[in-house]
Amino acid sequence: MPLDGMRIAVIGAGIGGLAAARALALRGAEVTVLEQAEKIREVGAGLQISPNGAAVLQGLGLEPSNIGMANEAVHLLDRSGRTAIRMALGPTGYYLCHRADLIAALAHGARQAGARIRLLQRVERIETGAAPDSGPEIRIANQARMRPDLVVGADGLHSCLRGAILGEARPRFTGQVAWRAVVPSAPGDPEAAEARLYMGPGRHLVTYPLRGGAYRNIVAVEERRDWAPDSWSHEDDPEALRAAFRGFCPEVQSLLDRVRRVHLWGLHRHEVAPQWTEGATALLGDAAHPTLPFLAQGANLALEDAWVLAEALSASVAQGQGPGAGLRHYQSQRQPRARRAIEAATRNAWKYHLRFPPLRLAAHSALRIAGRVAPQRVVGQFDWLYGLDVTGGQRLSEPLPCPQSEGDLCP
Ligand SMILES: Cc1cc2nc3c(=O)[nH]c(=O)nc-3n(C[C@H](O)[C@H](O)[C@H](O)COP(=O)(O)OP(=O)(O)OC[C@H]3O[C@@H](n4cnc5c(N)ncnc54)[C@H](O)[C@@H]3O)c2cc1C
Repeated sequence: MPLDGMRIAVIGAGIGGLAAARALALRGAEVTVLEQAEKIREVGAGLQISPNGAAVLQGLGLEPSNIGMANEAVHLLDRSGRTAIRMALGPTGYYLCHRADLIAALAHGARQAGARIRLLQRVERIETGAAPDSGPEIRIANQARMRPDLVVGADGLHSCLRGAILGEARPRFTGQVAWRAVVPSAPGDPEAAEARLYMGPGRHLVTYPLRGGAYRNIVAVEERRDWAPDSWSHEDDPEALRAAFRGFCPEVQSLLDRVRRVHLWGLHRHEVAPQWTEGATALLGDAAHPTLPFLAQGANLALEDAWVLAEALSASVAQGQGPGAGLRHYQSQRQPRARRAIEAATRNAWKYHLRFPPLRLAAHSALRIAGRVAPQRVVGQFDWLYGLDVTGGQRLSEPLPCPQSEGDLCP
């Protein structure tokens, strides 16, 4: 196999890191994943997977329909519960997953392909090995050092590798916060397996079913001037969430009444990294291009990155060009697409949160008309995003049985 014997360290066991670990290990690399946490765990939250991300899961032999449930539509409503537009999605390719289930499937897949996942390994410093004849070096908080052939930084928004390549910079607060919660379903909840998005002035709330409809995911976003807490997220009082969405329809009130525990995130961002690779290192996922979640693409883009990185490396090594050429090709393939997707997500914040009543009324009426006349054209404007299959239909492995994640899925 093209990457036989190449020793690759992947920093971070999130969605991007674990997908990269499986993609690289299936192509022959000796992969070690270094994760700072003591356990591979996920917040209680859902995730929408679109066809571009689902194609990568399939290419890796991880059947998305075993991980999540099919998403039939995206349904935009105003805060009174009146439909603005309901966009039916294709018969396959869109899924509603619990993050814990996706992480469990990816971690199982990475291990099954031969990757080692080492926990409690917080990377503190990385030498990228840009100087001739020097490879990368990783220093871990427990004083250990590693000298792999290649380092993949899938270490999220506060990436250590990003700092090593571009210099340290704190991500900026975007003026948006997000509460996330999972609640048990109850009679009266919408029956359709669809993502519902309720739009109000300066805020919106997304909800969809999880795990065959046993639970409902809630993501509620509010505009704020500043983010005071020291940490990036914290547990919040469910009453604060209920108060922020008090003016919304009874269906939303019924959901929020069931929230017992909720976390609040300050949404922070960096610009898309101008440089994704230096020496034998490369950034991937949120480490390269954190996004606002308003197009549900952060994890999908990270999955695409993982596939393209493994493919580009394999091709350059097979052609005798060495990994550097592959890493540069990876950046040139991924950077413009990530930029375009993130700009589209940022524009959605403005569309969902219209404050000026006449403008809001006009925008919602326009959506209603589009929904009646040509709903498919509205979904079709995102063909460039959802329609890309970076695998080109390749399958790196037979379908792998997916494990069920353990424990109570409500936080
Ligand atoms: C409210 C909300 C809703 C969202 N909904 C969706 C959605 O529906 N669909 C979608 O596609 N995306 C969604 N996203 C975005 C998505 O969650 C992220 O883009 C995605 O999880 C990024 O994955 P990643 O692997 O790049 O980084 P992360 O998930 O952040 O993983 C990084 C990992 O690296 C580890 N790490 C960090 N630093 C170190 C270090 N120094 N040493 C060792 N380990 C380290 C961390 O512990 C972590 O495990 C949403 C985001 C938010 C906030």
